[in-house]
This record gives sequence, structure tokens and C-alpha cells, in this order.
Amino acid sequence: MITLQAVNKHFGSHHVLKDITITVKAGEKVVIIGPSGSGKSTMIRCMNLLERPSSGTVTVNGVDLTAPKAPVSKVRESVAMVFQQFNLYPHKTVLENLTLAPTLIKGVPKAEAVESGLAFLERVGLKDKANVYPAQLSGGQQQRVAIARALNMRPQIMLFDEPTSALDPEMIKEVLDVMVDLANEGITMVVVTHEMGFARRVADRVIFMDDGRILEQGSPEHFFQNPEHERTKLFLSRIL
Ligand code: ADP
Ligand code: MG
Repeated sequence: MITLQAVNKHFGSHHVLKDITITVKAGEKVVIIGPSGSGKSTMIRCMNLLERPSSGTVTVNGVDLTAPKAPVSKVRESVAMVFQQFNLYPHKTVLENLTLAPTLIKGVPKAEAVESGLAFLERVGLKDKANVYPAQLSGGQQQRVAIARALNMRPQIMLFDEPTSALDPEMIKEVLDVMVDLANEGITMVVVTHEMGFARRVADRVIFMDDGRILEQGSPEHFFQNPEHERTKLFLSRIL
């Protein structure tokens, strides 16, 4: 569903992604871990071309997004992203946050976007908050709204970049529970997170990044029981 082929990314003279090749299959749940600065965000942002690779190709559903005149914005509609800082529109209500992109970008009729928006809010346990503003919600609630907003675009792929890192500990579980629900429904997911409990429950594959490269990948069990590289062991000893 997503393929990065020999992707390199430079920021000036800083070589941030080094020859990354990775394929995510339809329905697969991939968890990406690794030290701060190792390139996790840059890699996941290449998956919907929020970052453009310096070289290499990014293919989503068979469409090469790095080709000249590629329909990037069209493809992006099927690849939703949830960020560490929820990025809700502060001057829009919760429900307006959910209906804005589907109506403006996809041309979904307003009534339809409202109906599906309310259904997704119900799924994340926030239907009663439809008409409040983001600032009236806790961090965990805001992140669940951000997830519902992403879902209301009916994406085929969900990208999450450290979705619980900005949350107080007691709110992490409510967000992870929503993500586990989604995973169980079969949506394709790529998740940057250090929540290894989440990885153990849902990941088909864990990828360890170090210094712009994929150093090691395998099942969650592989990482818990038998990581290969010293750097992986050191990293895991710090987060577990
Ligand atoms: P991670 O998500 O693993 O912490 P990032 O992908 O955010 O890592 O960053 C990898 C490296 O790229 C870091 O050294 C970071 O400072 C650098 N970097 C990221 N984004 C930019 C940017 N827009 N401009 C310059 N350097 C950047
Ligand atoms: Mg990051």
C-alpha cells in the first residue's frame, strides 16, 4: 500500500534519511521506534509527502507521489495523519473540525459529513462534545477528536506520529484504546510511538530506526526477547 524505495532526505548538509526502503502492506500495523532525531518523523512524513524526499520514490496505492505532476493532494486524502500536537482548529467546534476537510476538500455534502462525523465522535466516546471548542477539552479528548477528524476523511491509511507523547499519563490509555480499536478493524496503520505495550498488542512489525537508517525490524516478540543489535538493546533498556 505504501512503498518507500531508496529514500534519502537531506536538510541542507544534514543527511537525515539514508537509503530507506520499506513496504507497508494493506491492513498491516507497523510501529516505528528509535531515538530522538533518528528520522522517524521525517520518514512518516515522507509517506504522504509532507516531506519530499531528496531522492528515491514514494508509492501509495500504486501511484508514484514523487513523479512530476503526481496527484499528491488526491492521494493525501486517503492517507490521514495524526500528530503529537493535535493541531485542531481552535476557532472551530469539535464537529466543525470533523466536517471541514471532507466538505471542502472531498466535496462531501454537509449533512453527510455531519452524520458520519457524529458517528466517529461516538466511536471515540465524545459525541456529547460535538459543539464545544477544542480549548474546552483535555489533551486526551483533543487527541481523540483529532483521530475522529482523520477518520471522517475515510482514509485507507492512518499515520500517527507520537500521538500520546504530549499527553499526561492518565490520558494516554484513552487514546491508545481508540487506536487499538481501529487496529482491530483492519485499517492500515503506521505508528511512531514508544508505547511498547501498544506495539505488543497490535504491531505486525516493529521497525527500529537509528541515525537515519532502519537498523532492525521484526515482530514485537523479536524486540522483547531477542533484539539483535547493541544499539537496539540499549534503546529498549531505556524505554522499557
Ligand atoms: P525523530 O522524529 O526521530 O525525532 P526527525 O525526523 O524529527 O527525528 O528529525 C531527524 C533529524 O532531522 C533531526 O536531526 C532534526 O533536527 C532534523 N530535521 C527535521 N526536520 C527538519 C527541518 N524541517 N529542517 C532541518 N532539519 C530538520
Ligand atoms: Mg519525531
